[in-house]
Amino acid sequence: MIDTHAHLDMLKTEEDLVESVKALDYIITIGCDKEEIPKAIDIANKFDNVYASIGYHPYDVNDIQLSDLEHLKELHNRNDKVIAIGETGLDYYRDYTPVDRQKEFFKEQIKIAKELNVPLIVHSREANEDTMDILEEFAPFPASGIIHCFGGDRKMMERAVDLGFYISFAGNVTYPKADNLREVLKHVPLDRLLLETDSPFLSPQKKRGKPNKPSNIFYTLEFVADYLGLDKDFVERKTDENAINLFKLKTFNYT
Ligand SMILES: [Zn+2]
Repeated sequence: MIDTHAHLDMLKTEEDLVESVKALDYIITIGCDKEEIPKAIDIANKFDNVYASIGYHPYDVNDIQLSDLEHLKELHNRNDKVIAIGETGLDYYRDYTPVDRQKEFFKEQIKIAKELNVPLIVHSREANEDTMDILEEFAPFPASGIIHCFGGDRKMMERAVDLGFYISFAGNVTYPKADNLREVLKHVPLDRLLLETDSPFLSPQKKRGKPNKPSNIFYTLEFVADYLGLDKDFVERKTDENAINLFKLKTFNYT
């Protein structure tokens, strides 16, 4: 099983990290601010089955310069384990960062992902219309990307799928009130579906209230498979295959 989105540097304990690395076939760890980026790369270099995605979250673009974005290219070119750009995007839920600045840094990071020809990991919260407009402006995306922790409606999902993007669901899809998310889940083409934990955030319902860790992805897998009326192993293989294709990872044997 692959966790396509975790912040491993933020896990509560070293045991959580070691347990998660053992429990999963691959984990993509995300570094999305100045402190997290080097930590994500370090963790990826430490464990064979961990890869890193680097970029600046919309909350964290206030104190950086465009030159910091240029530096992302260098970090990618120097580290084989850096395989994607992000998470980057738009977040209008909190007004930590002016909208224009968010848009500017989102667009610049889209350009970098395209230049490096790597997947783009997109964060979008209460900004779905603008997020999709910007992505469409920069189409096509030969290396594709992910709308991570999907929180949009069916229309947004379809626009993303039309761009060749993958739709990734996190633990919040298991929450009792998330009917609208599950309604979208039903319609996602299976070859575009991914699962993630977004650890240490968004623990699935069965572990809610505790910090999340990648090994909890199996609760989300089980829930999603049940909800879709599909076999759990089938959904695991399908979503893993999608992640392997997207990130160009080596295939592995299931034990
Ligand atoms: Zn994240």
